[in-house]
Amino acid sequence: MSTVAEAKPKWALVVHGGAGVIERKDLKPEQEKAYREAMARVAETGAEVLRKGGSALDAIEASIHLLEDDPLFNAGRGAVFTAEGKNELDSSIMDGSNLKAGAVAGVTTIKHPISLARAVMEKSPHVFLIGEGAETFAQTQDLERVDPSYFFTERRWQSLERELKRQGLPAPARPAGAPQASAGTIDLAHDEDGGRNADLMDLHKKFGTVGVVALDSRGNVAAGTSTGGTTAKRWGRVGDSPIIGAGTYASNTSCAVSATGTGEYFIRLTVAREVCALVEHKGMSLQAAADQVIQKNLTALKGDGGVIAVAPNGEMAWSYNTSGMYRAKIADGQPLTVGIYKDEP
Ligand code: ASP
Repeated sequence: MSTVAEAKPKWALVVHGGAGVIERKDLKPEQEKAYREAMARVAETGAEVLRKGGSALDAIEASIHLLEDDPLFNAGRGAVFTAEGKNELDSSIMDGSNLKAGAVAGVTTIKHPISLARAVMEKSPHVFLIGEGAETFAQTQDLERVDPSYFFTERRWQSLERELKRQGLPAPARPAGAPQASAGTIDLAHDEDGGRNADLMDLHKKFGTVGVVALDSRGNVAAGTSTGGTTAKRWGRVGDSPIIGAGTYASNTSCAVSATGTGEYFIRLTVAREVCALVEHKGMSLQAAADQVIQKNLTALKGDGGVIAVAPNGEMAWSYNTSGMYRAKIADGQPLTVGIYKDEP
């Protein structure tokens, strides 16, 4: 006989805010608190949409907006810089009910790239638009545009300067419209402690991508991902986040997945689709499939990062091979769980 605990939740939602070298000793209490609060707020926002009977896509878009607005994360405001000193944003979304998908790469004036990805999916005949073309398409849509300097944060700019120095590359001029550098700039992740924290930020400079997967009360799953990519990226580099099958995938026949980590490995392993394929074709549980791809396949390739996933039966999972991943999950009848480190549930 089924118990309440075993009952399939009507809806479920999982969030990530990036995976990387994140250890207890490295985060100051106020930083840890800020990340935990952000994860909780975002999960609650998505849950509220689902509780009211909203769609998985709406829940994903609403929660990713918050993450794109929050400078703690490498998406929207707070995105990392390219070697040329620009913020080039990538995002994708997929609807598991019909396998429709939308993605954008290298956009520079869209406040919420996840909404542009959704517009590509719903209002264009295409799946993936890049750079200028994506911006031109955006002009035909009712989307908030911003000056590129909106995305500027001191913390990410300093990470860029350090990374370029490390690589022996010249530092670009501060972008037009960016605030003046000031000695008193207070930044949650800035190096008030004599550089130790700056080194830490460099360690996980590649991380902070955001993603949300959701199951709605109609039984549909969906996934969305948004990122600034990797610090000091060059030559129009695009990672896995906007690539359907690599950073994002959703199908009602298996599951919905959003990934974070060094994108090159995730592209080569088609990580998101691979998790779903193991569920669909091998009948694996969601957790076993996510662990297979991250702990075994990704690790064997020496890649780093993680995934979050949800299945139409309400199963939720996460798996990462880094020391931490900012994450949260919540489902109908199940409490909110927020985690950062490996030793948390
Ligand atoms: N996957 C992203 C990329 O490679 C970065 C990240 O998740 O941290 O662009």
